[in-house]
Amino acid sequence: MIVRKLEVGPFASNCYIVGDQSGGSGIIIDPGAEADVILKTADGLGLKVQLIVLTHGHMDHVGALPEVKKTTGADIAVHSEDARSLQVRNPFGAIAGGASQSVITADRLLSDGDIIVIGDQPLTVLHTPGHTPGGICLLGQGVLFSGDTLFNSGVGRYDLPGGDYEQLMHSLREKLMPLPEETIVYPGHGPDTTIGAERRSNPFLR
Ligand SMILES: [Zn+2]
Ligand SMILES: [Zn+2]
Repeated sequence: MIVRKLEVGPFASNCYIVGDQSGGSGIIIDPGAEADVILKTADGLGLKVQLIVLTHGHMDHVGALPEVKKTTGADIAVHSEDARSLQVRNPFGAIAGGASQSVITADRLLSDGDIIVIGDQPLTVLHTPGHTPGGICLLGQGVLFSGDTLFNSGVGRYDLPGGDYEQLMHSLREKLMPLPEETIVYPGHGPDTTIGAERRSNPFLR
């Protein structure tokens, strides 16, 4: 599995381009900003982008959606609970250079346990509410894309609209902490980590 990390936009969001080594198919996770950089990188890797997956609906993770969607023609997948906020909160058309009223609609609504396939590599959708109601993580072979649920030495904010501390802690303890400790964690902001490192030293999880 090819994983390319790009830090984009004013909020330094991590966008991940994930590809299948053999077949040349790929997905883009959280195209937050800088569509041109994201598209150029996917192109350079020789990947045909088949799906755009959002770990949640916050603006710093979806800002480049209109342009990335337009260029790749790929479907947009997001958890059903965050799909609505995607449409409501839509001033990012202006940022992307489009009409300020442009409405972004999800093509595929995700639920816990869904499988996203990249070539022969499955990614399992883990519904991890708490940062947002429809926040998800994506679990692959030894890797976890954790969105804004889990960071290196931190956790996502739970004080924004739709956030819930109890839910976030439940998601972290029940869904993420039981994963094998060598699992590499690719978060929505900041440096990579592992489940084991966070179990030992994350102040929210000790
Ligand atoms: Zn967020
Ligand atoms: Zn974020």
